[in-house]
Amino acid sequence: MNIDSIRNGVVIDHITAGRGMRLYELLGLGELDVSVALIKNAVSRKMGKKDIIKIDAALPLNIDLIGYVDPGATVNIIRDGQLVEKKELHLPEILRGVIRCKNPRCISSTEQELEQVFKLTDREKKVYRCIYCETKAN
Ligand code: ZN
Repeated sequence: MNIDSIRNGVVIDHITAGRGMRLYELLGLGELDVSVALIKNAVSRKMGKKDIIKIDAALPLNIDLIGYVDPGATVNIIRDGQLVEKKELHLPEILRGVIRCKNPRCISSTEQELEQVFKLTDREKKVYRCIYCETKAN
């Protein structure tokens, strides 16, 4: 893939340097049968250094997951070689299916089919709590 010219795909830009790999893994990009480029420590005028992920396929991505890992990132949707959408991210209020509750007695741990849902309870400190048992994430 020519990483400079994606015709149809997604570019996750302005990732805090060092977080690109974590995003890559959490998004499951390694398991996909598409061209993906992870660029580490790219020079950025605004940030000094940043990571970039380029995906050469029009995939539906979990935007909440990206916002959770790195709320400063931007997601650019490329179609026919043109930037058609630029999404500024933020910490999502609700996380669905992104992180798991650590409480072994939580109903979401015992009932496997129950969706893992966390609610943002402190935006400044980035605290999420399980909606079932209120256990803190991380
Ligand atoms: Zn829980």
